[in-house]
Amino acid sequence: MCNPINYDSPSALRAFLDTEGLGARKQFGQNFLIRRDIRTRLIDALGFERGDAVWEIGPGLGAMTALLLERGAQVTAFEIDQGFCRVLRNLFDERLTLIEGDALSAWRDTDAAPYLLGNLPYNIGARLIADFIEQGRFFQRMVVTIQREVAQRMSAHPHTKNYSSFSILCASAYTVTPLMVLKGACFYPAPHVDSQAVRLDLRPDRPRYPALFYPLIRALFSSRRKTVKHNLRDFLAQRSGDAVRLMDVALVHCNIGAGARAENLSLDDFTALALWLADAMQG
Ligand code: SAM
Repeated sequence: MCNPINYDSPSALRAFLDTEGLGARKQFGQNFLIRRDIRTRLIDALGFERGDAVWEIGPGLGAMTALLLERGAQVTAFEIDQGFCRVLRNLFDERLTLIEGDALSAWRDTDAAPYLLGNLPYNIGARLIADFIEQGRFFQRMVVTIQREVAQRMSAHPHTKNYSSFSILCASAYTVTPLMVLKGACFYPAPHVDSQAVRLDLRPDRPRYPALFYPLIRALFSSRRKTVKHNLRDFLAQRSGDAVRLMDVALVHCNIGAGARAENLSLDDFTALALWLADAMQG
């Protein structure tokens, strides 16, 4: 079927939604990317080949999906809005594998793919990326559009205000490259905040992290103003009867000063600390 939707015109999108008895729901972060040039650049950045499997999160009315299919991707798309799903099935029939439901849970039962594309809804973007990494669902490359401040946290370096447990989580598995900033006017309806596209390339050299790595980094950032020593003691107190001694030895062994804060530590520092603690707590 020829695609009747003009994805670049707010008035045409509005008219299409009205005809279908649909709306742009804030609750699901439904802001449509109305710039074809940007959609093309995002797909170029994903860099897949014809026949490659691609997951798309939140296809909406199919603006990006149509381009992915044109370029020969095998697309599996996750969409929560039943009305949009009806439109997508009519537009793309069996060329698209459509998973109707909440991507936050539905991905777990879905065959993995090497590529992921998503103009992510604001309320689930960071959580979805964190879940993928913590649950070990890795992609060779992801290109996501996300709230700008979340993008800044994803690519932040030590000693900066945006550096957080989420920065370390992303860097633990991926090389994170910020791409273009998208002003609200690139979307219909226009959101009040800017977005940013980010590319994440899987690190071939990523180490095997112990199970306590992710809880540890979250705990060390839980009270940013407190020292690593303080937060580490609280973390260990819940896991070991010997928390104070363990903490003292760990800090000396990993060369972390008593006054250091989590924002001063690099990914290598966190990795060394997690590996040492995992070993010590096992023995
Ligand atoms: N891809 C389209 C575009 O770029 O124009 C629409 C992107 S819009 C920002 C986000 C899309 O994600 C909407 O279609 C929304 O219904 C969908 N969505 C929101 N929450 C979701 C969830 N938990 N699981 C799956 N899809 C979701």
